[in-house]
Amino acid sequence: MLIKNIHQLIGQTPLIELQIPVPNQSRIFAKLEMFNPGGSIKDRLGQFLISDAWQRNLINQNSTIIEPTAGNTGIGLALAAQQYKLPTILVVPEKFSAEKQQLMKALGATIINTPSNEGIKGAISKAKSIAAEIENSYLPMQFANPANPETYYKTLAPEIVTDLKNEKIDAFVAGAGSGGTFAGIAKYLSEYDATIKNIVVEPEGSILNGGPAHAHRTEGIGVEFVPPFFESIHIDKTLTISDDNAFQQVRYAAENLGLFIGSSSGAALAASLQMAETLPPQSNIVTIFPDSSERYMSTNIYGN
Ligand code: PMP
Repeated sequence: MLIKNIHQLIGQTPLIELQIPVPNQSRIFAKLEMFNPGGSIKDRLGQFLISDAWQRNLINQNSTIIEPTAGNTGIGLALAAQQYKLPTILVVPEKFSAEKQQLMKALGATIINTPSNEGIKGAISKAKSIAAEIENSYLPMQFANPANPETYYKTLAPEIVTDLKNEKIDAFVAGAGSGGTFAGIAKYLSEYDATIKNIVVEPEGSILNGGPAHAHRTEGIGVEFVPPFFESIHIDKTLTISDDNAFQQVRYAAENLGLFIGSSSGAALAASLQMAETLPPQSNIVTIFPDSSERYMSTNIYGN
């Protein structure tokens, strides 16, 4: 395959049928988003946010992009902004992995850290105050921008349907951080087949199943407020997965499948296995593996 730039490699990721024992003879299919060039599902978002803003004349060649992010969206945005030669400032709570922050810097972005205990809300308010001081700055605001779920509605969701061609999809299981991935795909799949069950995954310490909010080791998912995108979709169930369970699945995937998955993928796998126990036999479950474990080595993702 001959390509002219790295951005051409965003999307069209493989969907793998996991060759592991699944309860009730069900099958689990996982979309391998670590195969995007920036290493995560958020390359799709970065590209869509920047091209959408450019087309709508919200940015021009003199703009500065500013965004609060847990890391992967920052990498995706920095990658996209590079194409347009736009300076990028990413506001990241200190707790997020060093590797992700190094990759953002390598792409030319400026990183501003906010205290871990202020969470993503602290990063959001810091980003807003920086934007207020910089002329011609643009804040994509993934947490509220409808372009976020639209990215996944337009790209990843139809890929799943094409990948599975004539197979029935019974359940869609995925984690939520901003909620864009889950909302965009759930909306598309419900329109495609209203019988598909939508199951959202969160770590302990996220508030969807009633809280309380507290720190967790599973990185990339977990919410401090209900994502606004969830208002327009139907959610059948919210599964809360412990950090221990998520990290156990990360190790299991490496040992049994040769797959290096991040902790949010581990939580998605744990939730898919749990759902297989309650769904009818021979159900087809589709899930998302948002990134790889390689960007979490400094957090001891495989233990010592
Ligand atoms: N997993 C990882 C590793 C992520 O970085 C993110 C984005 N924060 C998600 C899952 C959740 O994606 P979304 O923001 O679309 O809910």
